[in-house]
Amino acid sequence: MIGAGILKGMAVTLRNFAGSYFDKERLITVQYPEERSPLPENYRNFPFLVFDGTDAQAGLRCVACQICEKECPPQCIYIVKSKDKKPDYIGKPQFYPAVFDIDISVCMSCQICVEVCPFEAIKMDKDFELSQRERFDHLLFRKEQLSKSNDYYHKIHPIEAAAVDKNLADAAAAAEAKKKAAAEAAAAKAASVGDAGSVSGKPTASPTVTPGSTSATGQTPPETTKS
Ligand code: SF4
Ligand code: SF4
Repeated sequence: MIGAGILKGMAVTLRNFAGSYFDKERLITVQYPEERSPLPENYRNFPFLVFDGTDAQAGLRCVACQICEKECPPQCIYIVKSKDKKPDYIGKPQFYPAVFDIDISVCMSCQICVEVCPFEAIKMDKDFELSQRERFDHLLFRKEQLSKSNDYYHKIHPIEAAAVDKNLADAAAAAEAKKKAAAEAAAAKAASVGDAGSVSGKPTASPTVTPGSTSATGQTPPETTKS
């Protein structure tokens, strides 16, 4: 019958409209901005920089490697590397971004910067209320504005942030174990060099060779003098 689809659709609308007065599940709109629907874990819009601890600049994970800047398809990231270094989360001295800007009027929320970052330093935010009256300066986000704490990251992406924390803790433990093993190997080497030095100058005991037997290295010993 012509128009059956339209009537079916109208019936669904009518059922939900009437049902919304009795069943909360059928009420799919909210009184925004007083009410807000919870955003799903993997919702994303624009990137932000994660810092650990309470000091945004000292705790910034970004080491200014500029990989994200190179990989960003619309080239909306601008980074200037620092001249000096500061310790990263495992205490290794690293460069940091003296300047880190993202032009969010150009950013297309592709998340490539997040995927390519080897330091878990840049993540996608959920803040979508960013409209401004001015197109240029107001939509060019600076490092200070982009820096947000790891606690904030946990609040907006709890599952992902917990996995990232575990990866970083594992990496820090592996680095610590490697450092310890290297220190032990260096100490053992120094001890063996010391031992060698302490026995030098003393006569080396000659191995007792029985005629017809073989030496310790498997070689036939020289002929013994027979009386
Ligand atoms: S989300 Fe995509 S477009 Fe936006 S800064 Fe990252 S790489 Fe560039
Ligand atoms: S955010 Fe990551 S990829 Fe981009 S410069 Fe910083 S450390 Fe490198």
